[in-house]
Amino acid sequence: MTFFEVIEFYPSISMCFVVILGLLVGSFLNVVIHRLPKMMERDWEDQCKEFIANHKDPASLKLPVQGSFNLMIPRSRCPSCGHQIKSWENIPVVSYLILGGKCSACKTKISARYPTIEIVTGVLSAAVIFYIGINWNGFAALVFTWSLIALTMIDFDTYLLPDDITLPLLWLGLIVNSFNAFSDLPSALWGAIAGYLSLWSVYKLFKLLTGKEGMGYGDFKLLAALGAWMGWQMLPQIILLSSLVGAVIGISLIVVRGRDKNIPIPFGPYLAIAGWIAFVWGDTINQSYLKLFLN
Ligand SMILES: [Zn+2]
Repeated sequence: MTFFEVIEFYPSISMCFVVILGLLVGSFLNVVIHRLPKMMERDWEDQCKEFIANHKDPASLKLPVQGSFNLMIPRSRCPSCGHQIKSWENIPVVSYLILGGKCSACKTKISARYPTIEIVTGVLSAAVIFYIGINWNGFAALVFTWSLIALTMIDFDTYLLPDDITLPLLWLGLIVNSFNAFSDLPSALWGAIAGYLSLWSVYKLFKLLTGKEGMGYGDFKLLAALGAWMGWQMLPQIILLSSLVGAVIGISLIVVRGRDKNIPIPFGPYLAIAGWIAFVWGDTINQSYLKLFLN
């Protein structure tokens, strides 16, 4: 029996495999969520230094150079005592449970957020494969899901939606739909254009009327990416769902955590969550609307 035959005959085994893959990717997403914004800041800092050295003050070139910092280097450490995380302490969820949620060296509490993101990634990966199946589309859908999880958390933490994720996601949407994976290519292309322009116009209008900036360019790029994956037809539903998700999360944050109403809440997480819901259940939701109106 080959590996693929096993998967075909025992769907529960393949689901376990997908959940484990999701947990491992979730563990990597924790690193991305934590480090990518810092990598962007260092990059901006380097660019500023280079600009100043080239145009204003050549002496500033002698400033110390920053050490390597990327998704692989340096190895993960405990933020309070600097203890280097060993491989056995890095097993998704399991290590957290074995360590009792504490650093093995200094016993400082490890945020429950890490295992939560791993579990969420595992569950959403399984859901995507359950609905789409184990095939190339399913694999593309996993990449889409993982990117949205990273974007949601990074925007929530830092109010940034990194171009390093949104732009490749947009291109990937167009590429997979050139094979008619989730939409036809013209719909995907116009989805990307309409996604970007719709939020851009809202932004410009809002700025014209109030003089304030209501959202960022990352939001336009994210909606463009969602349009590229699902086609322009799904955009109205994504916008509607994102306001619904926004209302639910916004109100619960204020009620549960007593979050100040005046602290801005980023729009990206709502778009990403709504985009994922529309991606998985969009057609079902659209059909139930139609039934509602036709009856
Ligand atoms: Zn420690």
